Amino acid sequence: MQRIGVFVCWCGTNIAGTVDIDQVKQAAEKIPGVVNVQDYQYMCSEVGQNLIKNAIKEQKLDRVVIASCSPRMHEATFRKAAKSAGLNPYLVEIANIREQCSWVHKNKEEATEKAIALVRAAVAKATLNTELVPGEIGVEPRALEIGGGIAGIQTALDIAEAGYKVDIIEKTPSIGGKMAQIDKTFPTLDCSACILTPKMVDASTHPNINLYTYSEVEAVQGYVGNFEVTIRQKARSVNADKCTGCGICTDKCPSKKAESEFDEGLRKRGAIYIPFPQAVPNVPVIDREECLKFKTGKCGLCERVCPSGAIEFNQEDTLVTQKYGAIVVATGYDLINLDKFGEYPYTEHPDVITSLEFERLTSAAGPTAGKFLRPSNGNKPKKVVFVQCVGSRDKSSRGKTYCSKICCMYTAKHAMLIKEKYPEIEVYVFYIDVRTPGKNFDEFQRRAVEEYGVNYIKGMVGKVFPEGDKLQVHGVDALSSETLIIDADMVVLAAATKAKDDAQELGRKLSISTDANNFFTEAHPKLRPVETHSAGIYLAGACQGPKDIPETVAQSSAAAAKAIGLLNKGKLVNNPCVSQVDEQICSGCLACTKMCPYEAISSQVIEVKEQGKIVKKTVAHVNEALCQGCGGCTVTCRAGALDLKGFMNRQILAEVDAICL
Ligand code: FAD
Ligand code: SF4
Ligand code: SF4
Repeated sequence: MQRIGVFVCWCGTNIAGTVDIDQVKQAAEKIPGVVNVQDYQYMCSEVGQNLIKNAIKEQKLDRVVIASCSPRMHEATFRKAAKSAGLNPYLVEIANIREQCSWVHKNKEEATEKAIALVRAAVAKATLNTELVPGEIGVEPRALEIGGGIAGIQTALDIAEAGYKVDIIEKTPSIGGKMAQIDKTFPTLDCSACILTPKMVDASTHPNINLYTYSEVEAVQGYVGNFEVTIRQKARSVNADKCTGCGICTDKCPSKKAESEFDEGLRKRGAIYIPFPQAVPNVPVIDREECLKFKTGKCGLCERVCPSGAIEFNQEDTLVTQKYGAIVVATGYDLINLDKFGEYPYTEHPDVITSLEFERLTSAAGPTAGKFLRPSNGNKPKKVVFVQCVGSRDKSSRGKTYCSKICCMYTAKHAMLIKEKYPEIEVYVFYIDVRTPGKNFDEFQRRAVEEYGVNYIKGMVGKVFPEGDKLQVHGVDALSSETLIIDADMVVLAAATKAKDDAQELGRKLSISTDANNFFTEAHPKLRPVETHSAGIYLAGACQGPKDIPETVAQSSAAAAKAIGLLNKGKLVNNPCVSQVDEQICSGCLACTKMCPYEAISSQVIEVKEQGKIVKKTVAHVNEALCQGCGGCTVTCRAGALDLKGFMNRQILAEVDAICL
């Protein structure tokens, strides 16, 4: 007979508030094989863990069941505790009486009944648990960074400084992301380019960092420590090794009708262009949809004027496959499309602009050399109205329910930047609430009001009407209930942030999930905020949710620390709960090979004895290093030849039987 210990956790009042712990203990004591039952307020604490360890040693327990929170939360903790007391960690079983029980029930009687059933099931499974021993796999000492904004750059620099090679894949022709578009940064009002461009240069010159700009992830295979990523390097049509960045081609190009992405469409760019003067790499790219040579077969002027012979019209996309131990996703965010916000005539009137367009208009390197003039007529505005929360905290289908987090601060910044340049301009800010938590943030916003005389109006704008050369802003002051009409020259919309449109597609390639708003999901919002549910893949920056630069940089360094920790291990223990094939039963249909998302199953030919003769037979073969233990194959196999170690069919059935008692 086995000697099973059952440890019931209160989780403070999380479990004990809804589940009668004493009744669970009494029921557990009656289960055959259970020789020791104890309870404690926080079983995961040091005292709780010691309780388990001592019981294993003193009571000679050979199986342990912890009735507590989800195994996602503390299975590793309890397995480690068991191991340190000399018990194979796979002889530990968790009964989830928190997430599956106390948190979903209000009635104590029902919750207690369910908790007892779950404990019975866990004991039944533990009875059939066998000792499992993890194997070892090597770790490729190289990291991949997807996205070259401030998040990607910071993470890459941290990893590179720790002595590991790191590649950055950036979709656009230059690294830098949104921060490169920003003029000055809150809360210090220091120049964004002055703090970002040295980092861009450091990233491009660091001996451990390799840039793949104008590139994307094509495919991802493998698993933690051994990812195999295929990178598509899009054809620049310019040979980066030959190009000196002289810019003659971009000056001479006659096709200058395309809207500059970097300047948010406020300036035209050529078909051959360098996105911005401080771009890294400082190499042009030909936009083939705009280039006359590609469109009509004529022109080719850039090829003729380039002194270095760098133009290559026949360049093709190239695919590079590289192995990585860790991957950090840092693909950032975008602003929502304002087409559906008809109350602000954004698509019709050039003087209604987004906050990012504002950044380009105030930037010394922007289309107006920082003069901040009305796009419609080039005049200096007299009154500017800012509208916050455009599409943020908006429950309608056109907006986003969440707070974009950065707009209150950048709007205060924008208001101050105007006032610093032109104190005579009247500035109004319509807001729902001012949300400025963060070091020195509230003080910063108050300066806009107290020092610069910016008029903050609590209320929303109902409609903006173009009237002559003015924009008549109709709003309500919610504090005085007064209707306000402001004859503005410009309206600046703090458009909500959103996840990148291709986030789900990238998520699928990486096998990481996205939330309801398409931001990438962290493994645990409090305890594992930079990890994903796929081991070895981490998150940095605004791809996980709206973030300002300080928060982005902090999270990036955290993701780097996680990646460095992984690369530093050199070897990993792999999960022994992997699938196994019963070759006697396997019919060789290989349906399992098609369904395995990790491509862990292949076919192999073995020799078997049939009616006294040795015959060859094709069967499925599981690569234990690739298998992630998802169990998908076990339910696909019609012959029932596949079973998952640690979650064998008979163990699952024993659990079901115990619940149905
Ligand atoms: P991003 O800057 O968006 O960079 C992501 C990068 O990943 C981009 O280069 C993108 O091209 C690339 N990428 C995307 N998808 C892929 C893919 N599939 N493959 C490869 N590459 C990909 N914050 C402050 O702290 N202070 C300020 O003053 C401030 N002002 C702001 C003003 C405005 C108007 C706005 C909108 C934001 C402001 N912010 C400010 C916030 C700041 O922009 C963000 O905190 C910061 O840019 C987040 O960095 P990131 O690297 O996570 O994302
Ligand atoms: Fe590069 Fe040639 Fe253009 Fe000069 S002219 S920037 S060398 S491609
Ligand atoms: Fe511009 Fe294309 Fe002509 Fe080169 S060939 S100069 S990129 S239009």
